[in-house]
Amino acid sequence: MRDDETSAGIDGSLGAMLGTTLSPEHSKLQQTCREFADEVLIPAADLHDREESYPARNVDRLAKLGMMGILAPVRFGGLGMDNLGLCLALEEINRGCASTGVTLSVHNSLLSSPLLHFGTEAQQEKFFPRLASGESLGAYAITEPDHGSDAVGIETTCRREGDEWVLNGTKAWITNGSHASIVITFATIDPSMRSRGIHAFVIENTMPGFSVGKKEKKLGIRGSDTVQLVFDEMRVPAENLLGEEGQGFKIAMHTLDGGRIGIATQGVGIAQACLDATVSFAEGHQMFGRKLADNQLASHKIADMATRIEAARLLTVRAALLKDAGLPHSRQASMAKLSASEIANDAARMALEIHGGAGLGRQNPVERLFRDAKITEIYEGTSQIQRLVIARHVRPGRG
Ligand SMILES: Cc1cc2nc3c(=O)[nH]c(=O)nc-3n(C[C@H](O)[C@H](O)[C@H](O)COP(=O)(O)OP(=O)(O)OC[C@H]3O[C@@H](n4cnc5c(N)ncnc54)[C@H](O)[C@@H]3O)c2cc1C
Repeated sequence: MRDDETSAGIDGSLGAMLGTTLSPEHSKLQQTCREFADEVLIPAADLHDREESYPARNVDRLAKLGMMGILAPVRFGGLGMDNLGLCLALEEINRGCASTGVTLSVHNSLLSSPLLHFGTEAQQEKFFPRLASGESLGAYAITEPDHGSDAVGIETTCRREGDEWVLNGTKAWITNGSHASIVITFATIDPSMRSRGIHAFVIENTMPGFSVGKKEKKLGIRGSDTVQLVFDEMRVPAENLLGEEGQGFKIAMHTLDGGRIGIATQGVGIAQACLDATVSFAEGHQMFGRKLADNQLASHKIADMATRIEAARLLTVRAALLKDAGLPHSRQASMAKLSASEIANDAARMALEIHGGAGLGRQNPVERLFRDAKITEIYEGTSQIQRLVIARHVRPGRG
């Protein structure tokens, strides 16, 4: 159980400072996820890591709590919450299990969110009920074997044939890819047109020509599902185009701004788990005749972790609030992700140091947290890419 002094999360007074107060709905959502993390996710996290097993039971139980439809409109069976709500929920889920956290983050931030912003009423009516209930899992596929940061250069092609689009190409490193039945993906009518040629589609895994390729084995978030997706003359009905023709790159980048807030919550959640483990260990570990927590060097490390976690949490919530207010939030989302992913990795390193040799033991959660933290600096834009986005916005006359 967490110590409220060291790990308060976002509470009412913090909300007030940010110009909002946590509504009863926000508080309830946060509390539900906090309890679920403590009672269900934390006890199961090491097993999913060791076995590299997709946390299906966690996802099913979270679906019953409404967490697969946090942003989905109430009329389609969702909770109809905002991005602040998503942020509060995802921090707690990621604190409990980062593999489960990214599964839900992709489903809610990278699929529900663009469907909400760019989907037609017919698309929303068709997909949201299944997504919100958890009957269908969502994925987002832009990366290709040769195009990650350079997403504008994607080579998956689309061509129009009558009432259908025909897609050909391979998507790489796709989270939820082998379990997802609904995927937002991107293809170009002509790679030489760069961003102007890119179209976005909502596809289903039942479409002719869709198949799942190789499964990736990973350093961290080993319970999350990461695969290649292969489109071989995949036939997609014209009504599955998301947004307008040629609007795909804009949709991709808009979506990633929101997704980065989701990954920032993962960084904060992992860092908080590291702090919780460190405080608990330092309080219980005796050396040189006193508690490790009473050692000034250890207590300074704990103070640094707590301060930087709070700063990253505030940046993350601020980005979510801006998104909810319909204001520009690209710079703030990048700052939140950069800051949260760096503290996740620093907190994991400090936690491991404070645990001494015990920190390296496979039975110790900080060993997993250390490996889980790394990915936060890579996906949905590496830290280098976040710095480029931020610099573009703060340089005079730019952004
Ligand atoms: C576990 C996992 C899950 C993922 N899930 C998804 C998913 O669900 N959907 C999806 O579409 N993708 C997903 N990805 C892909 C992920 O978003 C990419 O790996 C990421 O964007 C980086 O691309 P890359 O791996 O091709 O590296 P590259 O783009 O090749 O980058 C290599 C290095 O070059 C640096 N670099 C690149 N451009 C610049 C620049 N202009 N200036 C300075 N440095 C630069 C990068 O920071 C990095 O250090 C996932 C990846 C992983 C590992």
